Amino acid sequence: VAEPNSPYLRDVLGTIPAYKAGRKVVSPSGRSVKLSSNESPYGPLPSVVEAVAAAAADLNRYPDSAATELTGALAHRFGVSEDRLALGAGSVGLLQQILGAVAEPGTEVVYAWRSFEAYPLLVGLSGATAVPVPLRGETHDLDAMAAAITDRTRAVFVCNPNNPTATAVRESELAAFLDRVPEHVLVVLDEAYREYVRDPQVPDGITRFGDRPNVAVLRTFSKAYGLAALRVGFLVAQPHIATAVRKTMVPFAVNHVAQAAAVASLEAEDELLDRVAATVKERVRVRDALLADGWELPSTEANFVWLRLGEHTASFAAAAEAEGVAVRAFPGEGLRVTIGSPEENDAFLDVAREFPHRNR
Ligand code: PMP
Repeated sequence: VAEPNSPYLRDVLGTIPAYKAGRKVVSPSGRSVKLSSNESPYGPLPSVVEAVAAAAADLNRYPDSAATELTGALAHRFGVSEDRLALGAGSVGLLQQILGAVAEPGTEVVYAWRSFEAYPLLVGLSGATAVPVPLRGETHDLDAMAAAITDRTRAVFVCNPNNPTATAVRESELAAFLDRVPEHVLVVLDEAYREYVRDPQVPDGITRFGDRPNVAVLRTFSKAYGLAALRVGFLVAQPHIATAVRKTMVPFAVNHVAQAAAVASLEAEDELLDRVAATVKERVRVRDALLADGWELPSTEANFVWLRLGEHTASFAAAAEAEGVAVRAFPGEGLRVTIGSPEENDAFLDVAREFPHRNR
């Protein structure tokens, strides 16, 4: 529907894409397998449900705006002082908070493309100019990203592993890149999928680079911790960055039910990381099955696989949907498929096996 021309709306709204959330579909036979949002296939642990129910007793009260207990638990878990932490309504909330702290019209934000779809949306909203730098093959081109930095650049986003291509940059490459980034630029390491990384050469941004004065590391409870619905993300950086990012948060952005669930999840971390290990095992099985079936796909360090399908992307997505399998299509480019439960993955592999085209 065409919008009436409203003089009070910002021009930038006409130029930025709306965020498209992963879809859920149901087949004619009633099957519904959602592999379109990189969620955990596991429901919440009983201890987390208990914590949520207990927190519900205080719904009439505003949350603890300092998130005292969660901040303390995160500081303990990651071995950092509390003044180095900031929370947000998911890591997208934190991305917006970061941009609120560094970006304004006339400044630039560099990120790889294709990468996480919220980057162009949030950078556009901030009023800053987006500077997308094409991937080299399926991975970040860190040389080109460093070369894209100007006097106007305020931030560079590095999505590691990258959504949607699932590839990750290694420690030596990232260290060399960070050494090239001038100090007037904040580097945001978006590590939403960190817990799924198995390549020992892919760095833990918090321990390897979190001490640098112009680095902020983003993590989330949405993926490995299975709390996507509750919207909790956290940032680890030097205190001056964390303080600024706490300032730009919408008051009470992280509600107390979410805080309680996140604390309970940290307490049950071993069990949650066992689930991550099961997903990694499934990832290997799915990738190997696709390779054996004649598909070509990059290695993956995340809870999803990437199939560069080009012109066949939309028809694969349609074939999957007919079977009740929702995947994430980037028409003309490729398909991102979340690793789900073994049964869900089998449903996807069945569609892939029947699909008439291979991508090699
Ligand atoms: N960063 C990346 C790379 C993601 O893929 C996602 C989720 N799709 C997010 C951040 C946001 O996650 P959340 O806001 O749920 O923490």
